[in-house]
Amino acid sequence: MSTLLSVQNLHKAFKVSANRPGAAKQLLKAVDGVSFELKVGETLGLVGESGCGKSTTGKLLLRLIEPDKGIIRFEGQPVTGIPKRELIALRRNMQMIFQDPYSSLNPRMRVGDIIGEPLVIHGLAKGQKVREQVLSLMAKVGLATEHFDRYPHEFSGGQRQRIGIARTLAVQPRLVVADEPVSALDLSIQAQIINLLKDLQEEFGLTYLFISHDLGVIEHVCDRVAVMYLGRIVELADAEQLYQQPRHPYTEALLNSVPVPDPQHVRQHQILSGEIPSPVDPPSGCHFHPRCPYVQEICRQEYPPLIDQAPGHQVACHFSGEVGRFRHYIT
Ligand code: SF4
Repeated sequence: MSTLLSVQNLHKAFKVSANRPGAAKQLLKAVDGVSFELKVGETLGLVGESGCGKSTTGKLLLRLIEPDKGIIRFEGQPVTGIPKRELIALRRNMQMIFQDPYSSLNPRMRVGDIIGEPLVIHGLAKGQKVREQVLSLMAKVGLATEHFDRYPHEFSGGQRQRIGIARTLAVQPRLVVADEPVSALDLSIQAQIINLLKDLQEEFGLTYLFISHDLGVIEHVCDRVAVMYLGRIVELADAEQLYQQPRHPYTEALLNSVPVPDPQHVRQHQILSGEIPSPVDPPSGCHFHPRCPYVQEICRQEYPPLIDQAPGHQVACHFSGEVGRFRHYIT
């Protein structure tokens, strides 16, 4: 598979108010040296707890917010460092599905106009052709023709996410960044939307970056998974390998937090405990060390680099090479 998107050493920090009045603003490192590639047609999951920088990473890829540092390339062409005019043309290929179907749709626009707007903005259709293409998109995402003239408030959460997906697909993107696309939905609706996203991927050859805090959801969708902690990727591997043999203690703890739908199941492993530290003042050395059950002295002093531990399996942990050290995810 060829590379669609490459990301090298991406950084983004935000200035935030200090706790004390009159103190200088502090830097919150939301994304701190993230690198990865996306192959054509694959789904890469980006997972981690709230505040780990995964949504910021998604927005940086489309330059919805500007990176401080780093290089992003789409099919070898630079995304970073190009003028706005070129970026708008490039954005046709790179679209986003947002988490909250309630707030991502303009409540004063009719559904047909919401879905058709990108076609008009990018000059892809005019007049009757817009309506025809919108109706075709609506059918693909499971919306009926009579929904064309309705307003977002007349729909359920799942239907609103279908409207958002149809709008995303209108410009025929190659890459879709899906930012927690199902986390605001009921479980049964989540499954419908995930199946829809998979069907559309097959039909249109889409590549997904699928952002979620829920490894249970990611498992059903992704070919590979990148785990983020405090702005950095700590493990990246094929989904099957990561679920069967996590090599980072944080991944292991996240997997142990996934509910198992079996009343007989007895949890044998540790559950992730403690608060995620502040990215304004991250712990020294390995940022995970205050929560890690395997911590050693070196962990408090040196940050472990993200390196290959097996083919296609990268891990940032001083002790991940010890096979069998970390107990496996058992369902
Ligand atoms: Fe735990 Fe040390 Fe590995 Fe960090 S480097 S995850 S503290 S064992």
